[in-house]
Order: sequence, then structure tokens, then C-alpha cells
Amino acid sequence: MNRTVVVGAGIVGAAIAFELQRRGRSVVLVDRDQPGRGASFGNMASIAVTEFMPISRPTTWLKIPGWLADPEGPIRLRPGYLPKLTPWLLRFLAAGRPSRVAKLEQAGAALCRRVYDDLLPMLEAAGVPDVLSEEGCLSLYASDAEFESDREHIDIIEKFGFHCPALSRDELQEREPAIAPIIKKAILFPQNKSIRDPYRLVLTLVERFREMGGVVETGEVAAIDCQDGAVKSIAFSDGRRIACQEAILAAGAYTGRLSRLIGENIPLETERGYHTQIMAPSISLRHSLIWPAKAFMVTPTAGGIRIGGTVEMAGLDAAPDYRRARVLVGRAKQALPSLQVEQTSEWMGHRPALPDTVPIISCSAKVQGVFYATGHGHLGLTYSATTARLIADLVTGQTPPLDLTPYRVDRF
Ligand SMILES: Cc1cc2nc3c(=O)[nH]c(=O)nc-3n(C[C@H](O)[C@H](O)[C@H](O)COP(=O)(O)OP(=O)(O)OC[C@H]3O[C@@H](n4cnc5c(N)ncnc54)[C@H](O)[C@@H]3O)c2cc1C
Repeated sequence: MNRTVVVGAGIVGAAIAFELQRRGRSVVLVDRDQPGRGASFGNMASIAVTEFMPISRPTTWLKIPGWLADPEGPIRLRPGYLPKLTPWLLRFLAAGRPSRVAKLEQAGAALCRRVYDDLLPMLEAAGVPDVLSEEGCLSLYASDAEFESDREHIDIIEKFGFHCPALSRDELQEREPAIAPIIKKAILFPQNKSIRDPYRLVLTLVERFREMGGVVETGEVAAIDCQDGAVKSIAFSDGRRIACQEAILAAGAYTGRLSRLIGENIPLETERGYHTQIMAPSISLRHSLIWPAKAFMVTPTAGGIRIGGTVEMAGLDAAPDYRRARVLVGRAKQALPSLQVEQTSEWMGHRPALPDTVPIISCSAKVQGVFYATGHGHLGLTYSATTARLIADLVTGQTPPLDLTPYRVDRF
């Protein structure tokens, strides 16, 4: 029997397993944990189709020293982690060369343009079309200087055809009365809708996958067995094995550890991010909000208001530092003075981050039958349905709707 194993039951692996099972494959979805407990558990729920810009670019480089010098800045680098991070940082800098940036923007935008073409059918097929919010995202500015410093970002979004109108203070007030008068200007990203409960979406996909005959196994994948250059089985740390013709490695920030099992080196790091979930916020919001100068996001979710963001470079094993989350709550209160911070929970997750920001959606260059779906960084929820569709095309031998060269694993 032709069996496909998908390793990793986050939003990316769950969407792939769901899509492949729908296409008639016999799929086993494996995770060492319960589905959806990784980065996909607590992300900011945004279908952020305008956020395809590579993070490394000359204007970002200029800002990084200031950010790093500020202990409450948007990026934190734990000094002890610097030696391990240096090779990734060098690749990150190289990805920001102007000639490279233009290509990376195109690669990200090509995925973003198709997001709703893939997401809406996936939600429909899973029976949950209503999990998508009606409103988009508002980007907030307290001064003209703040707006000017975000200008490059907006110009690029518009260059790629995304519509993002400016709102007057009155229009903003009408849309979101809870926003403080210190916010003078806003841009609306109507396409950047959000998912009401991203964790529940993973669970729903896994549930539907099971109903179609898909199998879920719990265990830590510790080996990938190959013969004559092709995958034969995956092995768990307790010795159990699952024979397979294809193995899709979609283990989020941990995929680099799996790729090394077959001698394929992926420069995958983790950009750790935090959220605070406020169950009883005393205000309600229709849109998600970002305040670029303060580097946080606020999203109304099924379980209250979620505040999150930040990037912490400290690897996969260091303990969380929840001060990062609390700083963001303090900033959100500047924009939303009536926000009550009661009944809260805090969370940290590992974004799977590649130095050039573009995900890997690719067959392995080393082992036949191995595929990668990783490195989705800040956009794993956004790209999930599109990645599932593209990987399913690769596995089933169908022609993908776009050229997948920019997403290849051997581009580094
Ligand atoms: C604070 C924060 C905010 C974010 N906001 C957004 C947003 O608004 N919009 C957006 O699109 N994205 C957002 N993201 C990014 C998004 O959450 C991630 O890109 C996405 O969740 C990655 O999904 P994944 O399935 O690749 O990884 P994960 O969800 O991390 O899943 C990987 C799975 O692999 C399993 N695994 C790992 N190793 C093994 C092994 N050896 N054997 C078996 N199983 C294994 C893990 O247990 C885990 O369940 C945000 C991230 C963070 C941290």
C-alpha cells in the first residue's frame, strides 16, 4: 500500500495530511505531542497576506543595533546564544542584498496572492468557513514620523497589488472606538483577516482527517530509514517503525533536526514569540491591530483578546522569558486605555525561521520520497492551506500552479 507519513501535527502538517487524505492517499500523521501544541497553538491568528517582505533588508539592518540596545525592543538576542546563531545571522545579512530582496519579495508575494484561493476551499472542505473574521487588520500610527518610518513597507505592499487605504481619525474612531486619541492615523489591510481560534482549526483539520480514514500516531521521530536513496520508513525513539513511500517533514522549528537525520542541512532557526491571552478584556474589537512603531499585534480571538509579537533569538531549548510578553501588554494599553488585563495566560512559541524569510516547500535534494514543508516563520497559519496544496501536488505528481524553484530546499 502507498503510505505517506506526515511528521508534525501543527497547522502546516495538519493541513497537508488533510489535503493528501482528501486526494485519496493513505496518510499517517505523527507528532510527539498532542496535535496543535507547537507554534500553531498561540499565534496571532492573522491571515497576514501583506506581510511577505523578507525581514532582512538594508533598512532593517540600520534599525537592528538600536533594537538590540533596548532591552524592551522588538528583537532580543540572548548573548549566550550568539555563537550558535552566527552562521544563520550571516545568511540573514546576505539575504538582504538589494538584488536578492527583490526576488524574495516576489517569492513571498506569489504565495500570498494565492492564500485565499487555497484557504477558503480548505475551510469549506473542513466544514468551518465561518472561522474567518469579517474585518481585516488596522495598522496604527501616533505621528507622521511613525507613518513615514513604515512607508517602505506600505509602498511594497501596494506595489504587489494589495489595496490598503488610509483612514482618517474619524473613520478609525467609527471602526474601533476603543482606540486612544494618541493614534492619529491608520492604514486598513482589508485582506488580512484572522482565524477566530487557530488552535481549534488544527484540531478540526485533524478530526476531519481522521473521519476520512487518516491515522494519527504519537511518538518522537528519531530516524528516517532509506534504501537505495529512497525513504523506506520512519522510526520513533521507542523503536516503533512506520513503513512509507513518502515522508513529509513538517515539524516546524524542529525540522532542521529531522533533515540532519538524512544529511540535509537546512539553516533553520527559531524566532521565539510570545502572547498574552486576556479572557476578560472589558473591550471588544472587530479588527486585529498592529502598531509598527511599538512592534506588537492585538487580535480579537474566540477566547478573548490576544496581544503578541516580539522576536527572541535564543534557540529551541532555553526557558521562556515572559517579561517579553508583559512589555507588549503595557504597549497595547497605550493604544487601548480601557483594556482590562484580567484573567490572562502567557505563552511562548517557536516560529520556524529561515534567513531569507521564504518557506521551504520542496522535495528533498538527497532522498527520494522525502518532502519538506517548513520555515514558514511569521506566516505559517497564512501559508498553511497553500503549502498543503503545493505539497500535495508534488506528492501526487500534479503540476503545481506556480513555479516552486524559489522554495527549494537546496537554494541555500
Ligand atoms: C507569537 C507568534 C505569533 C504568530 N502570529 C502569526 C500570525 O498571526 N499569522 C501567521 O500566519 N503565523 C503566525 N505565527 C507563525 C506560525 O504560528 C508558525 O509559522 C506556524 O505555527 C508553524 O506551523 P508548523 O506546523 O510548521 O509548526 P508547529 O505548529 O510548531 O508544529 C510542529 C509540530 O512538530 C512536532 N514535532 C517536532 N519534532 C518532532 C519529532 N521529532 N517527532 C514528532 N513530532 C515532532 C511538534 O510537536 C509540533 O506539534 C506566529 C508565531 C508566533 C510564535
